[in-house]
Amino acid sequence: MFNLILFGPPGSGKGTQSSTIMKSYHLEHISTGDLLRDEVNKKTPLGVEAKKYMDQGLLVPDEVVIGMISSKIDEKAGARGFIFDGFPRTSAQAEALDKLLEFKNTGIHLVLSLEVPEHELVKRLVNRGITSGRSDDNEDVIAKRIKEYYAKTEQVASYYYQHGKLERVKGDNSIEDTFKILAKHIDKYLLPA
Ligand code: AMP
Repeated sequence: MFNLILFGPPGSGKGTQSSTIMKSYHLEHISTGDLLRDEVNKKTPLGVEAKKYMDQGLLVPDEVVIGMISSKIDEKAGARGFIFDGFPRTSAQAEALDKLLEFKNTGIHLVLSLEVPEHELVKRLVNRGITSGRSDDNEDVIAKRIKEYYAKTEQVASYYYQHGKLERVKGDNSIEDTFKILAKHIDKYLLPA
């Protein structure tokens, strides 16, 4: 099994790159943002609770997200590996993920951190809001999401750095060029399927 985390602030390209990596390497893509939006659309109790935080650009409580990830990993038990996108976003989530994977006799192999300047992030997210209609892609909430990233999520990078798993990748080149750099890192562990 090969498990990868795509790390980076909102708008850094995690979703876009995940879908190409998923297809090339036959990995299961788990995006907590997508899973939460799905719950919100279905108006499940979890979705109704999560929406309160998402609408304000705040992180959903750890226990909600960790429970969701745990059942998703169990559901895809025979996978070649996972790409975690938008998770973990706090140190508690990173520790919980290590425990969940350890329980399955595996772990995180590589963390690729997409580095994009803040003005470029805002530009991308505002543009995405126009085309995707995502309600949290408006300037007010974008600013809060970026603030939340620097307050709670950025420190997760040092957790993986200390474990020798973090690679920083410049994320403001073209989509194709960024993919080539990411692929070079992944190829050290796993070849395209
Ligand atoms: P994303 O699609 O990854 O940008 O996530 C959209 C929103 O979902 C975030 O602003 C958070 O409110 C929530 N969310 C997604 N992933 C997580 C996570 N791992 N922990 C807490 N909240 C999350």
